[in-house]
Amino acid sequence: MATTEEARPAIRFAPSPNGRLHLGHAYSALLAHDTARAIGARFLLRIDDIDTARCTPEFEQAIYDDLAWLGLSWETPVRRQSEHFSTYRQAAEELGARGLLYPCFATRKEIAETVARVAKPAFDPDGAPLYPGLYRNANPEKVAQLMAEGRPYALRLDMARARDAVGPAALTYRVFDLHGGARECLARPERWGDAVIVRKDTPTSYHLANVIDDALQGITHVIRGTDLEAATDLHVLLQRLLGLPTPAYHHHRLILDESGRKLSKSAGDLSLAALREHGATPEQIRCMVGLAS
Ligand code: GLU
Repeated sequence: MATTEEARPAIRFAPSPNGRLHLGHAYSALLAHDTARAIGARFLLRIDDIDTARCTPEFEQAIYDDLAWLGLSWETPVRRQSEHFSTYRQAAEELGARGLLYPCFATRKEIAETVARVAKPAFDPDGAPLYPGLYRNANPEKVAQLMAEGRPYALRLDMARARDAVGPAALTYRVFDLHGGARECLARPERWGDAVIVRKDTPTSYHLANVIDDALQGITHVIRGTDLEAATDLHVLLQRLLGLPTPAYHHHRLILDESGRKLSKSAGDLSLAALREHGATPEQIRCMVGLAS
């Protein structure tokens, strides 16, 4: 039986500690936090640190400092994805045992070379060429040999089989706006092709960890940027395959720079810490992202 606490709606903000937070993160965090407070939902923070090579404890601490400075408060303990690799591994094993994943040893170069030979390559929603099916239905002896040689491999979803496994019913999910409205949306995961579910370098992928954690944390409403809208198609498919609930989703506008480019940590965009050092106040940050006038 769910406890009263678990039965309450829950919203999370899930940053990756691989750089300093910028205005785009502030907008996302404030929107998620304010919405949680407005609808009486729990507000959770999750540290999406599966990329152990790029995530650091210093950036994680900076997330806490920046969010507290903005005036946010969240439940503790905070869930850290790097502490739950065995949970993700177990889910991948379950999918693998059902024949829905296959090992892919292809390098980026190999994939690019194969795609270059295709007359009209197809692209995924992020603009990357669709995986051309190398290693799908690969010879089991060859796979065993590559594994014995210790060649690194990712685990990819066999999209056609996965679609079959969830049955013919339309894959839909609920999209909500911030004024009480909602509509059903159709997920089209096939546009991602045979997506990577377990990366070569870490025992999960963003997609797998994301759906498992949203379910384990009882997340009922996901608020995140439109840059992740297309990924929701894959998330809904994984939720159906793993028997997990599908939260309702709201994908918010992105904060852009003067040239219309999405802010990014790697491009060295102005961080919240830098704005703070220049004397900005939390209220000014709210104004800058359009959440106060
Ligand atoms: N960790 C992801 C990011 O920083 C967000 C995940 C999500 O909100 O679903 O882009």
